[in-house]
Amino acid sequence: MLPVVVIAGRPNVGKSTLFNRLAGRRIALVADTPGVTRDRKQAEAKLRGRDVTLIDTAGLEEAAPETLAGRMRAGSASAVEQADLVLFVIDARAGVTPADAHFAQWLRRQGKPVLLVANKAEGRVANSAILDSYALGLGDPVGVSAEHGEGVADLMAEIADRL
Ligand code: GDP
Ligand code: MG
Repeated sequence: MLPVVVIAGRPNVGKSTLFNRLAGRRIALVADTPGVTRDRKQAEAKLRGRDVTLIDTAGLEEAAPETLAGRMRAGSASAVEQADLVLFVIDARAGVTPADAHFAQWLRRQGKPVLLVANKAEGRVANSAILDSYALGLGDPVGVSAEHGEGVADLMAEIADRL
C-alpha cells in the first residue's frame, strides 16, 4: 500500500486546487467510495520520486453537525484515520480563523503527523497570517500558492521527507 496523504481544512482554503497541483498530470482518479463524502477525490501521485495516495476531503456542507468545526471533523475523520500524513491547509489571505483553530486542536489529538500548509501565499500579502499560524501548534507552516505553483516543489520535498 502506498503512503496516504490527506488534504484537510475548512472549505475554500484551496484544498482541491492543491490536490490537483500535487497530482498533476499523473493523476489517476479512483472512484469515490459510495455513500461516503460525495466529492472526496483520491489520486496516485509521485512527489519527488515517492509514490503516494492523495486524498482531497470535502463535502462538509452536507454533514450534520451544526458548527463548521464539527462539520470539518465529521467530513475528515475517516480520511484522517487512514492518513500517514495530513496536510492541514489554511488560507493565508484570510488569516487563521476560529474554525481553523478548532480543527487544528482536534487534529493534534488524532496523533497523526501533520504538515501545516499556508495556501494563497503568492506575493507578500500573507506574511502576518503565516506568522499567526504558528499559534496552531502544528509546527512550521509551509507557504504555497496552489493556484500559481509557488512553493509547491518545496512542499513536495517536505512531504516526501515526512513519509
Ligand atoms: P477547497 O474548498 O478548500 O477545496 O478550495 P478550492 O480548491 O475549491 O479553492 C477555493 C478558491 O480559492 C477558488 O476560487 C480557487 O481558485 C482559490 N485558490 C486556490 N488556491 C489559491 C491560491 O494559491 N491563491 C489564490 N489567490 N487563490 C487560490
Ligand atoms: Mg474542494
